[in-house]
Amino acid sequence: MLKKYLIKNATVVNEGTSIVTDVLFYNGIIQKVGHKYAEPDFEVINGTGKYLLPGIIDGQVHFREPGLTHKGDLYSESKAAVAGGVTSFIDMPNTLPNVLDIKTLAEKYELASKKSLANYAFFLGVNGDNIDEIINIDTSQLMGVSDDGLYFTKKGNLLADNPETMEKLFSNCKSIIAIHSEQEELVEKYEQIFRKRFGEKVPVEFHPMIRSTEGCYQATKQAIGLAKKHNARLHILHLTTEAETHLFQNSIPLKDKKITTEVSVHNLWFCDKDYERLGMLIKWNPAIKSENDKNGLLKALLDDRIDIITTDHAPHTLEEKNKTYFQAMSGAPLVQHSLNCMLEFYKQGKISLEKIAEKMCHNPAILYRMENRGFIKEGCAADLVLVDMNKSWKVTKKNILYKCGWSPLEGTTFTTKVLQTFVNSNLVYHYGQFNENIKGEALKVKQSNEY
Ligand SMILES: [Zn+2]
Repeated sequence: MLKKYLIKNATVVNEGTSIVTDVLFYNGIIQKVGHKYAEPDFEVINGTGKYLLPGIIDGQVHFREPGLTHKGDLYSESKAAVAGGVTSFIDMPNTLPNVLDIKTLAEKYELASKKSLANYAFFLGVNGDNIDEIINIDTSQLMGVSDDGLYFTKKGNLLADNPETMEKLFSNCKSIIAIHSEQEELVEKYEQIFRKRFGEKVPVEFHPMIRSTEGCYQATKQAIGLAKKHNARLHILHLTTEAETHLFQNSIPLKDKKITTEVSVHNLWFCDKDYERLGMLIKWNPAIKSENDKNGLLKALLDDRIDIITTDHAPHTLEEKNKTYFQAMSGAPLVQHSLNCMLEFYKQGKISLEKIAEKMCHNPAILYRMENRGFIKEGCAADLVLVDMNKSWKVTKKNILYKCGWSPLEGTTFTTKVLQTFVNSNLVYHYGQFNENIKGEALKVKQSNEY
């Protein structure tokens, strides 16, 4: 029988407030928020001194299944996710085969229903090859379409490089268009310059010069211009520069925005000073940039020009990372530690707990029009994470759950710990133990944008 849980006296962080209260949940749903006496059939959890947040919704992950499962898979990476308090994710289309049609998309949902411990959704891939099909299908029920990662398979397929494809897409697509915003042409120009200078062994410190601020800024500016022209629903993925933050607005509520953006945790945590210490391990696309960019991104997050926080969790094997510049894969795993990183910023006084809940829980649900997710309120799905705000632990190979077995955060001491994670009112993560019997659900798209 499914259990009924009553968390008593936890500090509930939700919708701008942190209040000590009780939360009762069962049958997948939050039944009551507010003082509640225990009944005989409730399992009571003492939340005294602990913090309860809505489960984290990560809007950008690469779980690598199907086709790239030597790096990660829907089971291993969703397990790492729930251990980090992440209860829902949206996965990118650059798996193999690329998700470029509805049939492949449906197969991915089918796989996840059997393997994922967290709730899931998938982007439909879009590039120069399938644009004519995409504009002819009803995309209104999709979580979104995206080109992220697809340009690796074929040069010139990045949307930002194809104004013609973009025009077609923006004038026809009804769903969110989430794009990786960099001018590949400019990247190639700088690649050639640095290849001439260093040959194959370009030091990774030059990565932010090759994948430059200019290339990001110009691509983002152009995409926004096109989206405005066609009144399209544009989301710029993983912003990396301070310059780009000034292209976004904070004067209207998120639910009414047509142009939105995100920052990934590594762009708040690392900067170019870390290349010396971590080398190719923090080679990401777009590149991690300067300290000024890092600070500017946080500022834009706090004043709501940036709407959500994601990870761009992108596992590769160490073998794939430890190569020379042009050969080393871009991307790194992060989904297990994103909440810990943000809570560390809270402890440093850089962000409030309420803002973390807004950017990691409420806003992804609003932005992607998710039905019934992202809040601790009655009637909402019981996706919850209980956190100890005063427990230190160190990231080591032993406690990393990613299939690839490493993290750029190895050796980092966090001072907060995820204790329990509930997905649809099921206790899937409990003090280091997992309940793997119950799987997550497919995330649904809401029909209206009322919140
Ligand atoms: Zn990505």
